[in-house]
Amino acid sequence: MHSLTSPLHIPAAIRFECTRCAYCCLSWPVPLNETDVKRLTGALAVSEEQLPLSFLSESERQGGLVGFTRALEKRPDGKCSYLIDSGCSLQNLAKPAMCQLFPYTFMDTPAGTFVGLSFASSGVINNSGKLLSEQATELASTLALFRTLFPQLEKETVAGWRAINMAEGVPLSYESYDQLEISLLNDLQQALARQGMTLTKHGTATAILSRFYKLLADRCPTAIWRENLPGSTARPKQIDQILLASFAAAYVDDSQNHKLLDDRLIAEAVSNFLMSPATGLLLPFAGAKFTMAQLLDSASGPLPPACEDLLVRFIYVRIFSKMYFGPGFSQLSLLAGVGHLVLLLSLARLSIKARLLLLKDTEGPDFKVDDDQILLWLTAIIRQVDSKFASARYGANTRAMLEILFLDRERCARLVNLSW
Ligand code: SF4
Repeated sequence: MHSLTSPLHIPAAIRFECTRCAYCCLSWPVPLNETDVKRLTGALAVSEEQLPLSFLSESERQGGLVGFTRALEKRPDGKCSYLIDSGCSLQNLAKPAMCQLFPYTFMDTPAGTFVGLSFASSGVINNSGKLLSEQATELASTLALFRTLFPQLEKETVAGWRAINMAEGVPLSYESYDQLEISLLNDLQQALARQGMTLTKHGTATAILSRFYKLLADRCPTAIWRENLPGSTARPKQIDQILLASFAAAYVDDSQNHKLLDDRLIAEAVSNFLMSPATGLLLPFAGAKFTMAQLLDSASGPLPPACEDLLVRFIYVRIFSKMYFGPGFSQLSLLAGVGHLVLLLSLARLSIKARLLLLKDTEGPDFKVDDDQILLWLTAIIRQVDSKFASARYGANTRAMLEILFLDRERCARLVNLSW
């Protein structure tokens, strides 16, 4: 059971029950430890060679999977080998430990352990079932399983929070972060209570995050900003578009769905574009390619309230569980972590806009799309973005690139404008 000395924090107003949607069985190969392999061979009465397994590489194991040696391979259709029409065929037999954890995440900090959720799950997307705050006993048991799978993680992660930065080279104490986070979580909780009904021009989640970025920016020393660096030849608007195009290819391109995110491709794409600026930058959305001019020619307008509610919940859970900067995500600074979240939200909105443009092309300019259809699109987009985000580990080049590119006070506001 969870130790009393390390409190378990549960996000407010968030619900979950498993709807047996099996989306968790589509996203990525399931990592297995030695106990999983033994249970599988025993329960299925097969040898290890007969199991659909691959070995994890050293770098995959170092990326947070130290105790895991193999992965359950997928079938050619991208589904887990043990997924059948009625769900997981291993459910009461030898369900791997990682699948038992899903969709929960746990983030250890100096102030206790924070619960998060994966938005790959339909139960999470729809906010269905009992409030998490009413499931504290079950959550404590799931945390106990998490502890057995990742015995070293608590100590390492807590230590990692002692070395966080507001921006690259500007240290931040965990206690100061905690103070900053209070107002952000309050804003998000108030927005959740309104269930997406009060929209600002650029959407509730993006407005709240952009405001937070500005608050952080105001606390950073003037000398760090890129525009104040001697010799800077920044082309800020073009770089905004390069960021959107490079991250769109990694996060929302349909052809990349169900593949693990390879952040080297992002860093490579950004640096290639920067070295020889592309004349015809194309953004991949909804199975087609769009120029920025096509996307800018029309405004998508406000999203339906249910979509705003989903975006706010997605951001609230990420912020609450602190899985967006520091030890929570690739050791990004707080400023770059918030900027990265704004970038992903902007991509989600641009993906919707691209789908509206495609439909208007085929059905005519007056064609109206109903709110339920837009919510279905957004659900698929958020599911893909969250799955990529959860499996992403940014290397030194990608981190350095984000740190530099988000040292621009106006970048977040411009990204939000571009996605409107
Ligand atoms: S083992 Fe079962 S729960 Fe895990 S991914 Fe495969 S089908 Fe899904």
